[in-house]
Amino acid sequence: MNNITYFAFLLIVVGSCSPAKEKTGSSQPEAIDQQSIRKIDVHAHYRYPRPYLSSFFQDWNMQAVLVDVAHEDSAGIRRSWEEYVDMNIENPEIFYLCSSLVGVGIDDPDFATKNIERLKEEIATGAKMVKVWKNFGMVTKDASGNFIQIDDARLQPIWDFLKETGIPVMAHIGEPVQAWRPLDDPMNPHYEYYKNNPQYHAFAHPEIPGYETIIAARDRWIAANLDLPILCAHMGSMSHNVDMVAERLDKYPNMMVEPAARFGDLASQNSDKVREFYVKYQDRIMFGTDFGNYGPAKGWTAEQLNAEQDDLDATYNDLWRYLSTTDSLVIRKQHTRGLGLSREVLEKVYFQNASNFIGLQ
Ligand SMILES: [Zn+2]
Repeated sequence: MNNITYFAFLLIVVGSCSPAKEKTGSSQPEAIDQQSIRKIDVHAHYRYPRPYLSSFFQDWNMQAVLVDVAHEDSAGIRRSWEEYVDMNIENPEIFYLCSSLVGVGIDDPDFATKNIERLKEEIATGAKMVKVWKNFGMVTKDASGNFIQIDDARLQPIWDFLKETGIPVMAHIGEPVQAWRPLDDPMNPHYEYYKNNPQYHAFAHPEIPGYETIIAARDRWIAANLDLPILCAHMGSMSHNVDMVAERLDKYPNMMVEPAARFGDLASQNSDKVREFYVKYQDRIMFGTDFGNYGPAKGWTAEQLNAEQDDLDATYNDLWRYLSTTDSLVIRKQHTRGLGLSREVLEKVYFQNASNFIGLQ
């Protein structure tokens, strides 16, 4: 595979980590100048340096939180933390850090203590949040062979530590509900992801707990930790129905949401309804994308770098048009109309809510 093919391949494979680029529809003049709205992409994966990143983020008047993902397999736990720390050191004006936590070894009586020690170090290095991933609930089992749910009591000392330290959590728990349904509709916004990542297609793995079980554990965890700010990534895995998200936001004052890689689900719903949701919860919604890069650009030509940059630019632009204009457009195969949010709402969603959440000055 050449590098461009590799990048395109990764875009598909990481699926929940990048939207497919789509052709967009007719354009209206944008009423609000993109540059005039400060932005934080609160959910990004820029793991490797690129010569264009600094000017790109400047053009978008944007910063980003680099969210570590901890995978576990037979080789152990693989993280992206070190690469993200390097990115943060090289571009402190652009990137912030988010650490991560997995449940591997939860039966060890020192599990919480060891993780708290590690998190202390990573917070000292700059972590502004700690991410928990869908391996809680769907992948990692304890010594008794049970899937570890996020409300497991053995994790409680870690939540208590984070509360004391003032570090919030980013939670990607569960998957879109389509993961528990047959993969029979190529227009489904998650079709490519589950086709390429069948291990997360819960429908084909009956041993994985049900959607409702995982979401209920997540809700109990949020309710039991009302003094811990929790940012539910991917609209809390309820992106197919903003009413479900609204119901939780009403119940749990400590819960926030961001739509990374789920704009296609929002676009599949009525734009007036989604607009109303954004307006009503304008203090609780952030801007996240799951965009990033997944391999070094060693040996790339200028054309390859330009193509990657153009692709990123086009995807950020689609989301900007979706949020700020009333253009007709297509996001992840879903024909929709932009939400046309006001400047006031855009300023909160794109910047202020995230800035407050991670405690920027
Ligand atoms: Zn992500």
